[in-house]
Amino acid sequence: MDQVKIGKFISECRKEAGLTQAALAEKLNITDRAVSKWENGKSLPDASIMLELCKILNIGVNELLTGEHITMENYKDKAEENLLEMSNRIEKRDKLLLDLEIWMIAIVIPFLCGLTLAGSYLCENGQVALGTALIIGQFILLIPFVYFGLRIEHDAGYYECPNCGERYVPTMKEVVMAPHMGRSRKMKCPHCGQKAYHKKVLTKNKS
Ligand SMILES: [Zn+2]
Repeated sequence: MDQVKIGKFISECRKEAGLTQAALAEKLNITDRAVSKWENGKSLPDASIMLELCKILNIGVNELLTGEHITMENYKDKAEENLLEMSNRIEKRDKLLLDLEIWMIAIVIPFLCGLTLAGSYLCENGQVALGTALIIGQFILLIPFVYFGLRIEHDAGYYECPNCGERYVPTMKEVVMAPHMGRSRKMKCPHCGQKAYHKKVLTKNKS
């Protein structure tokens, strides 16, 4: 996606609609600084306001993402290109999240183990209050870490059923309750109903 081209296009459409940056910003309930950043190609409008923006500018979402008016003939091609690019972006983000999770495990787990060891060492050597505090503290630190990790496991990518090949997003509850080995989770496939270890994959479709 060409942010600079999209920015110029937003600017053109805004002027055609007879709006100043400030007027457009006010309609969208955002700052005119945000509008200026789009038009300079420094950022893209959030997905959450894209529809509203397109309505005001009287253009389609595909036109916005392409940065030009689209005729009926090339509409389908452009739409497919944009969809593909959006899904590539999501795939990249998911990969980043899953990498981040590995880093978290590599750094946080040894740190928490260290706290527990230090805590039990202190307990054995008479400093029971401080030792207990360290061990309890370790548990308290563990909670947001586990929560964040589970969120990533749920949000990023899909799980694949080894029996029928179905790729799907399970519910948060299924992710939390399922026994797991590494990143594979034992869950019931929503397609064929078989219980098996489903592995994590990044894309919805096999490529
Ligand atoms: Zn299946």
